[in-house]
Amino acid sequence: MAFLYRTARTLLLGELITGMALTLRYFFRRKVTLNYPYEKGPLGPRFRGEHALRRYPNGEERCIACKLCEAICPALAITIESEPRDDGSRRTTRYDIDMTKCIYCGLCEEACPVDAIVEGPNFEYSTETHEELLYDKERLLANGDRWESALAANLESDAPYR
Ligand code: SF4
Ligand code: SF4
Repeated sequence: MAFLYRTARTLLLGELITGMALTLRYFFRRKVTLNYPYEKGPLGPRFRGEHALRRYPNGEERCIACKLCEAICPALAITIESEPRDDGSRRTTRYDIDMTKCIYCGLCEEACPVDAIVEGPNFEYSTETHEELLYDKERLLANGDRWESALAANLESDAPYR
């Protein structure tokens, strides 16, 4: 009995020392965790975050109301209405995305011939209500204005691979 007790104690002590050694080893190593939200990891240029509608540098909307994004969206999350302007160009009168339907596949961005609808780097847009995630054109354009420099840089760095 005493022999079994001594063996068990030796084994336990060994486990304890091994555990302490492991803890000490990782204590002094470079940390692999981030203190979110104060620290954030890097995002690739193809990161699919919150949607945005972009403008040209002169302020004109890029979107030409071709509706390719609406047609390709597998979640039927995009709703567009449009009408011709006096100058003959077509522009949207309504551009809605139901962000609660979106599956972030990125097909809308890929289908767009003028890089108007994009998925940007913002992933911090959780809300408390469903209604807040029903984006309209105004909200999407505001997102584009807010993130334009990051959006343009991402598109440029990804351009050689598209
Ligand atoms: S990312 Fe995909 S699911 Fe979401 S709006 Fe675009 S096409 Fe639709
Ligand atoms: S966002 Fe792009 S794909 Fe969608 S309607 Fe406008 S121009 Fe066409």
